[in-house]
Amino acid sequence: MAAAVFFEEDASKESVSGMRIGVIGYGNQGRAQALNMRDGGLSVIVGNPDDEYRKQAHEDGFEVFAVSKAAAEADALFLLLPDEIMPDLFENEIRRSLKKGVLLCFASGYNIAFREIIPPEDADVVMIAPRMIGPGVRDCYLRGEGFFSFVSVHQDATGKARERLLGLARCVGALKKGGIEVTMKQEAVLDLFNEQAFGPAFGRVLLTSVNTLLKNGLPPEAVLVEMYLSGEMAYTYEKMANYGIVKQLDYHSHTSQYGALSRGARYIGLPLKKKFQKTFDEINSGSFAEEWGSKRAKLKLKVLKRFASRQKIGEIEEKVRKKLRFPSSG
Ligand code: NDP
Repeated sequence: MAAAVFFEEDASKESVSGMRIGVIGYGNQGRAQALNMRDGGLSVIVGNPDDEYRKQAHEDGFEVFAVSKAAAEADALFLLLPDEIMPDLFENEIRRSLKKGVLLCFASGYNIAFREIIPPEDADVVMIAPRMIGPGVRDCYLRGEGFFSFVSVHQDATGKARERLLGLARCVGALKKGGIEVTMKQEAVLDLFNEQAFGPAFGRVLLTSVNTLLKNGLPPEAVLVEMYLSGEMAYTYEKMANYGIVKQLDYHSHTSQYGALSRGARYIGLPLKKKFQKTFDEINSGSFAEEWGSKRAKLKLKVLKRFASRQKIGEIEEKVRKKLRFPSSG
């Protein structure tokens, strides 16, 4: 099933002119989206606790209020907080303050998809989810390039949710490259699948490659540079995006092309399909969200991170990075 894709000409800024926009959270996405919307001509206020982020918002020239006050003032409220913080904050400081007919805009489908937040029935509920980290959202906007986004209308209480969504998305800079329409559940599933299937499987392939080369006596400095420290992989990814997975091969040597294509079939049987399907099913059924919602999972994350930081690759990396005069990784 093909998705609808929206561009700037599909949206009118008039549909949102005169609206007061409240941005809750002034972190990665919050700062970038608030600045873009202000440059796009909207009246933006920020809601954030009294801390470093609030200071930054002040320095950037925004009026900053307590979260509940910003929620009470806003005609459209952008919820740009870490997803795991959002449900409690929404119940305790936002829900009661909301205007009737307010538009709630999320940058991720997670809390709506897995019913961590049940929005009021009289609110429009939409999503503008950039496929870009916060600083990139701002940089791409300033460079006039834009970035891809997933957009969605989850609940249309006013009958104007779609036009308001598109008007806001345009001001955020999310329609310059293309706003792809998906449901909020689809966005959440895509995001989690990428993180839980492709990401770790790719990491495993990378580590296995590194270990194979080290075991065969190649010097760690050369192995790490070849496999990822050079940044060449990021460049190849860019080529894939610009020209296609197969066409990007043309940018590699003929030896490389022959080697990759002739040996590629060897890996066709990798036992991934079943594991990927299991991961997909866990995400799609909501059982991952249920697991992550528990206190036990937060504890488990700490243990897993400690375990990951003690892997041998960390030690090897540290030595190599030092020798190659990489800036400290902190
Ligand atoms: P950040 O971690 O950058 O957000 C931090 C902001 O949230 C700060 O203003 C922080 O203030 C505030 N905050 C944190 N805890 C609380 C609290 N308990 N009460 C009030 N405010 C709090 O978030 P992101 O920008 O990374 O993510 C925001 C949304 O954007 C999420 O839905 C995420 O899924 C989505 N998204 C993120 C992307 C990314 O690249 N990061 C990409 C696309 C979507 P303080 O901590 O000082 O209180």
